[in-house]
Amino acid sequence: MLLHNRTDRRILKQQIAQSSEPRLTLSFYKYIYITDPQAFRDKLYLDLSALQVLGRIYVAHEGINAQISVPQAQFEILQSYVNASLYLSGIRLNLAVDDNGKSFYKLKVKVRPKIVADGLEDHVFDVTNKGVHVDAEAFNQLASDPDTVIVDMRNHYESEVGHFENAILPDADTFREALPMVEELLKSHKDKNIVMYCTGGIRCEKASAYFKHKGFPKVYQLEGGIIQYSREIQAKNLPNKFKGKNFVFDERLGERITNEIISHCHQCGKSADTHTNCKNEACHILFIQCDTCAKKFEGCCSQDCYDFLKLPEEEQKTQKKKFKVVRNVFRKGRAEHLKLK
Ligand SMILES: [Zn+2]
Ligand SMILES: [Zn+2]
Repeated sequence: MLLHNRTDRRILKQQIAQSSEPRLTLSFYKYIYITDPQAFRDKLYLDLSALQVLGRIYVAHEGINAQISVPQAQFEILQSYVNASLYLSGIRLNLAVDDNGKSFYKLKVKVRPKIVADGLEDHVFDVTNKGVHVDAEAFNQLASDPDTVIVDMRNHYESEVGHFENAILPDADTFREALPMVEELLKSHKDKNIVMYCTGGIRCEKASAYFKHKGFPKVYQLEGGIIQYSREIQAKNLPNKFKGKNFVFDERLGERITNEIISHCHQCGKSADTHTNCKNEACHILFIQCDTCAKKFEGCCSQDCYDFLKLPEEEQKTQKKKFKVVRNVFRKGRAEHLKLK
């Protein structure tokens, strides 16, 4: 039986672009001890392939993390499958907002050392001993309490385009970097209500367990993250304390929550919040670009990348090396030449 999809990605991309079958994009995660991640991975791959699920799933000893799309017609079957599964039962399925269901073109299920890289050894702290879950209403209440500190557990390029009012925004490239930074920032707030949030809850859930382990007595976590919050405030007509866009890690790169644009084009400084990857594949840096600069530089991050793409192909091959440094994914949006970052 096939345990991987080896079809050419261009063909798969074309298939999904041309398909008229309605699909739903959703995410789920759970911290739970999985004895044999590889065996669980193989079974999951076969079962979800049969349901025509696409997307990216990580399995580790500490749990599972999934971003997937499923044909609308198979959604209920997926729900019953999940509820009948030993490791997945009781899991929350977060449906994406502002979604055309074409976020993925292939199913990848990978075994990883961790579902969220934290730079710590397994069992340093109990990841299942999480902070108190709060919904949108409880979050809003806590947010208006002067004894509350709200912490954004995402990376700088995510909070740059959208975040909660008055939140602490660590200037971190990765979650692993954010943990010690936030610990330092929270030193003088130890007895306050610490409310953590992230995109879908997976990172702040781990962070909440970490800070409990570090002796913080009142740690809370926004259940289902910004994704669930934006759905709840709409459904229950609650005041919205989130401003801007929710950055997401699929091809859409962002879901708009409010019309406010809180960030700027990294090239000209004009108000903008559209993330894009530089069209020069040798660079591919993630940055914010306004429409005017997108036209002027044809989607490139700089004059250098623009000029590079005008070179004959043969010359591009020999000059590719000079873009190696900015390609480092952990320096997204931090490249020296993006002066307006
Ligand atoms: Zn611009
Ligand atoms: Zn570039």
